[in-house]
Amino acid sequence: MKIIQKTLLLLAILSTTALYSNSFDKALKAININEIKQLTIELSSDKYQGRQTDTDGSRLAAKYIDSVLLSIGYNPVRQNFYSSRIDKNVSNILARIDGKDTNSFVVIGAHYDGLGVVNGEIYHGADDNISGVAAVMTLAKMYKNNGVKPAKTIIFAFWDREEENILGSNYYTSNFYKPERISLYMNFDMVGRANNGDLFPEVSYAWNNNYPYLKTICRKNLHKALPKKNQSLDITYEVRWGDGKGGSDYIAFSKFNIPYIAWMEVNMHPDYHRPTDTSDKISFVKLERVIRLSYYISFNLLCFRP
Ligand SMILES: [Zn+2]
Repeated sequence: MKIIQKTLLLLAILSTTALYSNSFDKALKAININEIKQLTIELSSDKYQGRQTDTDGSRLAAKYIDSVLLSIGYNPVRQNFYSSRIDKNVSNILARIDGKDTNSFVVIGAHYDGLGVVNGEIYHGADDNISGVAAVMTLAKMYKNNGVKPAKTIIFAFWDREEENILGSNYYTSNFYKPERISLYMNFDMVGRANNGDLFPEVSYAWNNNYPYLKTICRKNLHKALPKKNQSLDITYEVRWGDGKGGSDYIAFSKFNIPYIAWMEVNMHPDYHRPTDTSDKISFVKLERVIRLSYYISFNLLCFRP
């Protein structure tokens, strides 16, 4: 009897393990470098005029993001509002995948707006922040294709008006019915440049210091987030202490004390906030590795109940 029970238990463990490694395989197969390239080149091209909030270029970019979301099986919705502060219409784009628990949320986001056209020059904002848009879009595809229902409902967000005022994401969290039900926010802002070359790309991510378990998963137990032990990540990563302040959309979440992880460049590059932040300088090798690593970590945290 005991042997049968043990065997059944072992089988259950084995099948769960198999289910997860199978789901990781399916998720990894959903990463398509050519699609990532296409999206990055398209959205940072002249056609979108630097995507400044409430311009034709920004509306065109939002439509493009909608169409990609539709093509991977989501029904995107818009969160539109008028900001009297800047006298502009702001438009966040949201897509969701229901989890087993529809009352617990994980939000994964990146801003799609840019600086627009300044003195006749287009600020393309390829790294800042179409790289982040590409990361969130790919994660959305991976979660759609991994064959398992996530433990919590995931919302993929493409924020408007991060530049200058961080308005889009602030509006979102301020109007979220119960911010305490968001157990994780993952932010991507500038994750596409390999300043040391493709062989040794580096990325940094900050964790909210109010939540020590985030640090544990991000640093000490990262190997537990990987589907295979000793798997090579092919990326150097630096985990930073996050004080919840700074200049990107994660501050809209940290003000409600929501645990967050913010992915960003280790060092600012000279093209930051210049017209020369163009797609030809993006390392798609690095971008793919950042996406892979953040998938492992987010998948692990989805199953984790603080
Ligand atoms: Zn940015």
